[in-house]
Amino acid sequence: MIEAKELYHQYDKNGEYVLRALNFTINRGEFVFVIGQSGAGKSTLLKLLIREIAPSKGSLSILGQDLAKLPRHKVPYLRRNIGMVFQDFRLLDERTAFDNIAFSMRVTGASNSDIRNRVPHVLEMVGLADKAGARVRDLSGGEQQRVGLARAIANRPALIVADEPTGNLDPDTSLEIMNLLRNINFRGTTVLIATHDREIVDRLKKRVICLEKGKIAGDEQKGVYARAL
Ligand code: ADP
Repeated sequence: MIEAKELYHQYDKNGEYVLRALNFTINRGEFVFVIGQSGAGKSTLLKLLIREIAPSKGSLSILGQDLAKLPRHKVPYLRRNIGMVFQDFRLLDERTAFDNIAFSMRVTGASNSDIRNRVPHVLEMVGLADKAGARVRDLSGGEQQRVGLARAIANRPALIVADEPTGNLDPDTSLEIMNLLRNINFRGTTVLIATHDREIVDRLKKRVICLEKGKIAGDEQKGVYARAL
């Protein structure tokens, strides 16, 4: 599903490489944490995956497409297959939970009937069936991130990419969000999460790719944060 070969990234031509010689493969259905200290290159890797930026050298392919060669006009098609989850949720605060998900479905061309059926279903999957009509700004942080998850899965993406999804949440709520991501993964969606959250990484015992100064410093199945670092 995702394959990096000798992948390098530099933000400007004369600058240093912030990702260097990355090689890894992530198979369909995997659940993977990307960890590393601030500045290690986690966000850069995620930005490459959603083709917000292009690889400087090497190749990065996702769902069979080489992102180094993907023309701009094909980027929206790629993104349709990727659900994004953000630390700061990136929801429309004044709109309802239902509307937030409906908007993102509409952007990808979903029909009104598809939206009417799918939104209640994904809200139920994240335990928010009774909050469809609630305004996002009246929801708790954990509930807002649940809306974020529901939005990410609404278009049935093959891959979920989450950037510090529990960064703004307390430990109990973080665990709930991770368990939801685990359920989503259990249903077949590949999940990639960049995180600092040691406790959760150690608890879930999933694959851990550790970045250190732009290089892979560890890649372990059933990894532990402390050991990986
Ligand atoms: P992490 O997500 O692990 O904290 P980042 O991917 O954000 O790491 O950053 C990796 C390196 O790239 C850092 O040295 C950072 O300063 C640099 N960097 C990140 N974004 C940019 C940018 N837009 N322009 C130039 N350098 C950047």
